[in-house]
Amino acid sequence: MIKPLQIVRTIADLRCQRAEWQAAGERVALVPTMGALHQGHLSLIACAQAHAQRVMASIFVNPLQFGVHEDLSRYPRDEARDAALLAAAGCHLLFAPTLAEIYPQGFATQVMVPTIASPLCGTARPGHFDGVATVVAKLLIMATPDVAVFGEKDFQQLTMIRRLVQDLNLPTQIIGAPLVRDADGLALSSRNVYLSPEERRQALALPQSLTQARHQLLAGIPVARALDDASKALSARGFDPVDYVELRYEDSLAPANDWTPTDPRPARLFGAGSIGKTRLIDNMSMGQAMK
Ligand code: AMP
Repeated sequence: MIKPLQIVRTIADLRCQRAEWQAAGERVALVPTMGALHQGHLSLIACAQAHAQRVMASIFVNPLQFGVHEDLSRYPRDEARDAALLAAAGCHLLFAPTLAEIYPQGFATQVMVPTIASPLCGTARPGHFDGVATVVAKLLIMATPDVAVFGEKDFQQLTMIRRLVQDLNLPTQIIGAPLVRDADGLALSSRNVYLSPEERRQALALPQSLTQARHQLLAGIPVARALDDASKALSARGFDPVDYVELRYEDSLAPANDWTPTDPRPARLFGAGSIGKTRLIDNMSMGQAMK
């Protein structure tokens, strides 16, 4: 039996329900999203269920994190479908606020974590992470969950949020959930719906190039060469532009350009670029074996 999903649109109602649950001794989890849900998002709900008795999801397409020439107006939106998926997954509450509820007239505050937000996607998307940091700080303050779950699909975002929560002393535990891929290896993304069948095939070059670079690195090929090979492979297979292919340490996101297979510090490959008008990102740990 699918339990009904409670949908709330105001911060007051969100706080009221969360306070009721916490007063009853129940742990509360939050899974922030922009909607257009897929199995990657639903894996975060499952992860949240393992850490809390009550799971809240939020859907808010945050204009602050989109650049002027980005896809804010065409970003896929289907609340009824998302709500049905959340209900079927056993989520208890959906917070789906209006724009005015989150950014009322006169809103002027920005949250920034520049050291973590500057490299990788921060270079190609100036201001993006400031928008993410601002909305996530607000969501965590308004919902005050015991735990919040974010996907490793957006590893730079996850790293920034961990720093933000620590720096601002927010009382929420941040949990990172593994990246979920399609059967052929492409990372699931709400933006994959933009891809034509031909572009969808080309997009596979991203996980394949990172996998190839990973194998080269583990075989002792120098970092610069492995990254350059991957970048060239992406260009050759239709990525234009290739924004970056980089190897960085997981904790600080500092470059790992001298990494060798005996380096004990966890490192991760990151790649991003565009196929047609669709920008795709991916990342792979150097530690875990890839399926
Ligand atoms: P979005 O709706 O794209 O803003 O993503 C909301 C949350 O879902 C973020 O924490 C993402 O990292 C996570 N997410 C998106 N795609 C995936 C995926 N393929 N695997 C795991 N988590 C994901």
